[in-house]
Amino acid sequence: MTERQGHHFLQIPGPSPVPERVLRAMDRQVIDHRGPEFQRLGLAVLEGCKAIFKTSGPVVIYPSSGTGAWEAAIVNTLSPGDKVLMVETGHFATLWRQMAARWGIEVDFIPGDWRHGVDPAVIEAKLAEDRGRVIKAVMVVHNETSTGVTSRIADVRKAIDAAGHPALLLVDTISSLGSADYRHDEWGVDVTVSCSQKGLMLPPGLGFTAMSQKALAASKTNKMPRSYWDWQEMLKPNTNGFFPYTPATTLIYGLREAITMLLEEGLDQVFARHQRLGAATRAAVRAWGLEVLCLDAAEYSPVLTAVLMPPGHDADQFRKVVLENYNMSLGTGLAKLAGKVFRIGHLGECNELTLLGALSGVEMGLSAAGVPHRSGGVDAAMKALEDSDKSNAPSHLKMVQP
Ligand code: PLP
Repeated sequence: MTERQGHHFLQIPGPSPVPERVLRAMDRQVIDHRGPEFQRLGLAVLEGCKAIFKTSGPVVIYPSSGTGAWEAAIVNTLSPGDKVLMVETGHFATLWRQMAARWGIEVDFIPGDWRHGVDPAVIEAKLAEDRGRVIKAVMVVHNETSTGVTSRIADVRKAIDAAGHPALLLVDTISSLGSADYRHDEWGVDVTVSCSQKGLMLPPGLGFTAMSQKALAASKTNKMPRSYWDWQEMLKPNTNGFFPYTPATTLIYGLREAITMLLEEGLDQVFARHQRLGAATRAAVRAWGLEVLCLDAAEYSPVLTAVLMPPGHDADQFRKVVLENYNMSLGTGLAKLAGKVFRIGHLGECNELTLLGALSGVEMGLSAAGVPHRSGGVDAAMKALEDSDKSNAPSHLKMVQP
């Protein structure tokens, strides 16, 4: 491939592009992680994370990928032989299930079609059936990155409460945190798992777990062996801003800046921006005559859109054409969706013009790859963005809109 001029469009659903401000914040010499400068930094990010997770409880930050934080959630709250409920929303739910099984957890895996999110009614029914209260946790993925489907976590909590069941609620927000509305405390989540490289707009390398008092209590009596991931080991030095082992200092500088950016824009505005970008993307997909994988409008992801290829056309071949011609990376179809879907990421720092550039690349790529479609997707997306701008405009401007 020839070297291309200009900006590479990284439109996969994470890692997402790192904003200039965050890059500049990380462009610093490494410091003593046991000194006063790090202490100030540590205290600031540990406090700042609470605002992002919307929790008053502690958030633990690991030098890890999201998979590490998945493991931390399991080993800190469950014991070998415990039974849990999980839902097959897609590839990532399947991988988390596999990990739980490797830790000796018995998983009741509710089958899914990879086009819908968690059905709270099924959770309620399963928990109501569990009269012996042997199910120790409900473990679900908030935003299933393989499918572009977002589950309704507040409704899952209501389902657990309606069944009067004491199970913990463990939620993967790896691709949603910082892009989709999420409320750890208000939604009664016991463990929230996340990572740095998606909505938090950082490079890969930080994993997070937020925890409720109930989860902390479980961590004091559960029987799973652990060392690196142990919450208690982390929480002690964290009270003074320090870590039990060498933290990812440079990434933590970036985290401080990313938290500042999210709070400056305002989380509600951040979430509304992602909703607008998601709606514009779907408008484009429909105008092209293609199909969005997610089947329920209440579960459309504001983070990414997975698009089904017309039969007989390979998504990865199309992605290759887009990369070679337009210097843009789109997300591949994972596991059973390989070759069948491509995914457009619209998370993190993405704005209207980034999205329109990306959609132009998709539309030109569909032509270049000979994929049957109608033109006009970008127009439809522009129209959707303009319409939402009008409805969001201050009232004095609305009056003069044609
Ligand atoms: N869970 C979800 C929903 C994800 O999207 C991913 C990665 O894309 C993971 C878990 C795994 O995270 P990581 O690759 O950072 O280990």
